Amino acid sequence: MQAFKILFLFLTLNISNVRAFVPVEAYTFDFNIETSRMGPIKEEKLIKAVELLQEVFASPEFKRRILLHRYNRRYQFAHNRGLSNYQIYKRILNGVEKLYPVKNNAMDVVVELYTNNNSIVMGYTNPFTQKIWMNTKYFNRHTPAEVASHLTHEWLHKLGFGHERKKSDNRKYSVPYAIGYIVKEMARELDENIR
Ligand SMILES: [Zn+2]
Repeated sequence: MQAFKILFLFLTLNISNVRAFVPVEAYTFDFNIETSRMGPIKEEKLIKAVELLQEVFASPEFKRRILLHRYNRRYQFAHNRGLSNYQIYKRILNGVEKLYPVKNNAMDVVVELYTNNNSIVMGYTNPFTQKIWMNTKYFNRHTPAEVASHLTHEWLHKLGFGHERKKSDNRKYSVPYAIGYIVKEMARELDENIR
């Protein structure tokens, strides 16, 4: 059995060189996303977003961009909770939400829409729920890549990463913002290549 496993691993590494550069968890990463109050058309956009996200998470480029993220001329994120870029990357792949502390290599969230046309808030979450709320005002005009980015941002809060509430010089270097931007850019490129 062990020999078989090793042989299998060897074959996998050779068949797909790309995979050799990321941990197995990058391409086995799972998305357990439930929806609430979402019709089929909007759901379709979310599904598309998750498909893009899956490709982003599996890619060596995603890993590379996280490891090479710089803030204050060092390889680090702002508000990193003392974690190195690699440790942050591993946390993402482990998928251990504060509320659902199981190392299950998955994103476990419930996405619910709400509408507030007078608000400039794209969405929010809080530490006491698995839910992520997204404002339809933005969701409707967002591309799947932007939805993927927003989903990732809110989910990173669920892993315990934060940022300043008010716009500041270093907020964009925080884990939720910076990795949200990485996802947005990469998902957009993927989406354009598919079309
Ligand atoms: Zn946030």
